[in-house]
Amino acid sequence: MNGASFLLVVNFLVAMSFCAVFIVVAKNSRSRSAAIWIAAGFGVASLSALCELLVAYTSLTKVWALGAFATVLVGMVMLKVGIGELYHRQFDRRLIAVFTGASLILAYMIYDLPRGTSTHAFLYQAPFAVVVLTSAWMVLSSNRRMTVDRFLGGLLLITGLHFIGKAALAVAVGSGGVAKNYIYSNYALVSQSSTAVLMVGIGLTLLAALILEILMDQRTESEIDLLSGVANRRGFDRRVRNLLQQTPGTTHAVVLCDMDHFKRINDTFGHATGDRVIEGFGQRLRTCVPDDAVVGRIGGEEFAIFLPDTQPDIAMRLAEDLRMETGKMAGLPDSLKVTASFGVASVSAGGDLTEAFRQADIALYAAKNAGRNRVKLADPNRVRKTDNMLH
Ligand code: GH3
Ligand code: MG
Ligand code: MG
Repeated sequence: MNGASFLLVVNFLVAMSFCAVFIVVAKNSRSRSAAIWIAAGFGVASLSALCELLVAYTSLTKVWALGAFATVLVGMVMLKVGIGELYHRQFDRRLIAVFTGASLILAYMIYDLPRGTSTHAFLYQAPFAVVVLTSAWMVLSSNRRMTVDRFLGGLLLITGLHFIGKAALAVAVGSGGVAKNYIYSNYALVSQSSTAVLMVGIGLTLLAALILEILMDQRTESEIDLLSGVANRRGFDRRVRNLLQQTPGTTHAVVLCDMDHFKRINDTFGHATGDRVIEGFGQRLRTCVPDDAVVGRIGGEEFAIFLPDTQPDIAMRLAEDLRMETGKMAGLPDSLKVTASFGVASVSAGGDLTEAFRQADIALYAAKNAGRNRVKLADPNRVRKTDNMLH
């Protein structure tokens, strides 16, 4: 077995390993179908290495040579479909099927052309370059812009261009005269190893993208309060801090809400009904606040709302709407009247968020003292000793 044959066997095993790993990842990923397409892509492409070996060591040269071309191309098309699903990019799958069919016919037609001529070399590599370069474009122009996405886009771009480079190299150094001699050429060695390195890079980067997605999903899940469906304290804290970093120099508002006489609700109607009230209140908050607001359950029956780029009067109006909505929760016992008290404070540009929450808590306390079921705006001059809401 010569060097290129050995590399073919290695390529086959590496591609099959990627196929297996992507099947495993698919089970835990929300991009399940993307991972399956990618697995299928690596699985089908791995067969090309076997075809290349059969070209060298059997007499059905043309069949296996075309088989090698077809498996690489179909594998790359499947990879493209998977990448399209992962990056939520639509493309016409019928068009790519027609393109694949036309490329296979083209490969059949150029088969007897002398190898190493520019016509043969460029026509042979062009379909690969087209599929991979269009995949690169899908990634680079998508709205996922994390480092791993940029890296994948760059790698796909280099891989697409490397097929054109391979054609140029085949013309420059020859690719084995006839198909059967390909495996003995130095070109085969360079071609197989460069493609293998790039495919390993693409496989690892796709794996990283899928695993990062799973990790982010798990983090999001761990930051949601299961009962109310809004963020828990940790999620609320992180999202608010992110928003503050993104919008420096803007006035924001915070609203604190605490349900009135909740102990009494639990005592009179039972803990399960109390839970349904918290669930219903969480739902109301989610539907009533603007899309860019962050809602969190920061205590038993205490909720906080962060309203980015919002003046205090707008926040007061929203809190008043929420107060009125609180009494309209459906599915509760008729005799149960749910009310909540609200404290509103402002975070001025460059202001201290912890201080704003302290102010909102003072306002909430004032609302409770004034008879509950009302909204109060913080007066920065009044002080009540209380724990900080955000640490
Ligand atoms: P106030 O109007 O002064 O706020 O009176 P309150 O009774 O609501 O007083 P407080 O806010 O101190 O009490 C909150 C109660 O909420 C205490 C606790 O038993 C109850 N609670 C906390 N978490 C849950 C929960 O997840 N489910 C239910 N059913 N009750 C909870
Ligand atoms: Mg409370
Ligand atoms: Mg309460």
